[in-house]
Amino acid sequence: MAAIDGLPPLRDVIARHGLEPRKSLGQNFLLDLNLTQKIALTGGPLDNSTVLEVGPGPGGLTRALLANGAQKVVAIERDSRCLPALAEIAEHYPGRLDIIEGDALKVDFAAIAGGQTIKIIANLPYNVGTQLLVNWLLTEPWPPYFQSLTLMFQKEVGQRIVALPGSSAYGRLGVLAGWRTESRIAFDVPPQAFTPPPKVTSSVVHLIPRKTPYSCEAKALSMVTQAAFGQRRKMLRQSLKSLGGEPLLSACGIDPQRRAETLEIKEFCDLANAVEQMSAP
Ligand code: SAM
Repeated sequence: MAAIDGLPPLRDVIARHGLEPRKSLGQNFLLDLNLTQKIALTGGPLDNSTVLEVGPGPGGLTRALLANGAQKVVAIERDSRCLPALAEIAEHYPGRLDIIEGDALKVDFAAIAGGQTIKIIANLPYNVGTQLLVNWLLTEPWPPYFQSLTLMFQKEVGQRIVALPGSSAYGRLGVLAGWRTESRIAFDVPPQAFTPPPKVTSSVVHLIPRKTPYSCEAKALSMVTQAAFGQRRKMLRQSLKSLGGEPLLSACGIDPQRRAETLEIKEFCDLANAVEQMSAP
């Protein structure tokens, strides 16, 4: 990294600021310049982009984003210990890095974007990564304020995000992601790339919002998928009983004996629309 931006190596930064990684904050840091650069550029060149980063930590990915041309990075970090290290990066790139101390689960990302179209790029803390993704996927209005999401997950979660109907990884996450985005696993990252290494392999997932997803209400779809996959081995007439059971399924032309993992995304949207209609006053 020093060769690219003239800032000290990350290992020195971590030692100087006493940033011992904390498991409770999902802290697995990336210190390899080639890798942070690869993540930064997964969705194409960054020139003139505004990037929102969750969990910059000591700033490895943040530095790659700035060194590779992001016009502005807004980084949200919960661990106050990291702020002095991030302030040094901000000083090195005047006016290009804003740091917000806080919990990304409580932050209003649309307000931060402030009407600009932004890219969200993050090596997410694993303990909140899935919840953050679901929040972004359920954003209203759609198309959303972000142009793309480039996010690190445990490999198994990445596979659930891109899963297709009929596969064992297909579930609520795959339906929500497939409904509103085109998603792909960009590449895998081995445990040894992180400090400290996690137990499992990770994957960088890239998601691009669809401009016109099937029309349906996000909350209703979320509810239907939660019920259907909550009892994924049961037939839909049983798992969706509380939402309307057989009459609901018949209204959508879906065999009540099918199981959740056989349903196409369009069929989940039809169910969500029917649930909305049935509950309308
Ligand atoms: N981006 C850095 C890197 O790639 O080396 C650090 C990534 S580390 C996996 C996750 C980071 O997210 C940590 O710095 C951690 O403190 C931060 N974090 C954890 N929970 C958070 C939350 N709820 N909101 C914001 N940041 C959080």
